[in-house]
Amino acid sequence: MSQLLDPATLQVVKFPHPTLGRLSKPVRRVDARLHSTIRRMFELMYQSNGVGLAANQVDLPLRLFVANLKADPEEGEEMVFINPVISRPKGSDEAEEGCLSLPELYGNVVRPKRVHVQAYTLSGDEISQDVEGMLARVIQHETDHLDGILFPDRMSVTGRLAIEVTLDEFSAEFAGRRDLGEIPSDQQIEARLSEWEQHYC
Ligand code: ZN
Repeated sequence: MSQLLDPATLQVVKFPHPTLGRLSKPVRRVDARLHSTIRRMFELMYQSNGVGLAANQVDLPLRLFVANLKADPEEGEEMVFINPVISRPKGSDEAEEGCLSLPELYGNVVRPKRVHVQAYTLSGDEISQDVEGMLARVIQHETDHLDGILFPDRMSVTGRLAIEVTLDEFSAEFAGRRDLGEIPSDQQIEARLSEWEQHYC
């Protein structure tokens, strides 16, 4: 039985959902369902006033993310990055980050100030550009997601200590929801992700 869900049912998953720690696989097929999936990702991102959302944040194993630096469908540019590769890091910059999978949690993260990004748009055009500022930060944060890395993993030891209690609260809430049957088992999650990989990767 197919477990390729209707994209309209996708929701943002929160830490420590196992899909957030998973390495995403490159996408090799684009079809109508993937277009609907990306539309749904933008919708979910705007609902939470986010500026970026990676596919594994909606429990999908695909190597892609969406972004709009204005967090508003009426403003800014809607960007889709498929199979992003980051290179040529330059400089260093510290700024506060948040994440839709860690709602209400913020922390300072040091990242390269400028990077080069290579990726593909939904229409198959190549993106190859040097980026800096907020766009560089969003691209690095979202590409980290696709490698199973969350922003607290990039925080300083002292910064991370300060949020440890909050992370424990997220873990307790996740365990509680799983006990109630609201979150599938690891095996069920994995079976669904494999089906998406077989179809798109
Ligand atoms: Zn995030």
